[in-house]
Amino acid sequence: GADADPLLKIESVLMQFGGLKALAGVDIAVRPGTIHGLIGPNGSGKSTMMNVLTGIYIPTGGSVTLARDGGMQRLNGRTPSEIASAGVARTFQNVQLFREMTALENVLVGLHHTFKGTIVDAIFGTPRRRREEREARVRAVAILDFMGLGGLAQVEARNLPYGKQRLLEIARALALDPVLLLLDEPAAGLTAPDIADLTAIIRKIRDAGITVILIEHHMDVVMGLCDRVSVLDFGHKIAEGGAREIQKDPKVIEAYLGS
Ligand code: ADP
Ligand code: MG
Repeated sequence: GADADPLLKIESVLMQFGGLKALAGVDIAVRPGTIHGLIGPNGSGKSTMMNVLTGIYIPTGGSVTLARDGGMQRLNGRTPSEIASAGVARTFQNVQLFREMTALENVLVGLHHTFKGTIVDAIFGTPRRRREEREARVRAVAILDFMGLGGLAQVEARNLPYGKQRLLEIARALALDPVLLLLDEPAAGLTAPDIADLTAIIRKIRDAGITVILIEHHMDVVMGLCDRVSVLDFGHKIAEGGAREIQKDPKVIEAYLGS
């Protein structure tokens, strides 16, 4: 909702590569249950922000905190796997799937963290291990169904049409059971019908209670989906607001025309 406490607080985040400030002190508050757009011309710092949020880059300054168990938990300085365990999942700008594995196996990889058994359980295939694997399979199938990929569970990732591969990446991210899902240009390279499917699915994910940060070049997708949009240009946040307001903002128009 509009006045809820933020789920994610990005405060004064600075990411410096040598003399280049890819992020020059950015503040963004993401409210729970929303789709928050992150837009800006090429090179404005969007993917860098994704990498900071997921622990791939350690920011040079500022802080990133996530609301958990009634408090704000610090994310910056933690490893990517710690951040994933805290409930932040992502997809990449380029599809990154296990190409020779089936769709189901790709989602199962994302579910391995749910196995509580020891290495002994894994090696000897104890009843506990077998039960965990059965449960993971049921969950993986449910996630594929949710994504509209149920009929493709046994197809190898490399044999899926590109649009389905993008959905499978999101399915694998959902296997982490995230509170926050980060999507980096999910509509890139998709056909119009695939974009329509993707848009419906992202909305369904939001409606299931998962907060989404969406980086996207397709303005119609951003405008159709986002509850709120932050605009980056040369590492600075130059505008923020509802999708409609942002579109009319002279600073935003200028940034895009200049690119
Ligand atoms: P966007 O995703 O908005 O297109 P990026 O975040 O990829 O932009 O890049 C922002 C700026 O930071 C660019 O000038 C880019 O060249 C630079 N940059 C990104 N990652 C690195 C890195 N690992 N080392 C040096 N410069 C980088
Ligand atoms: Mg990028």
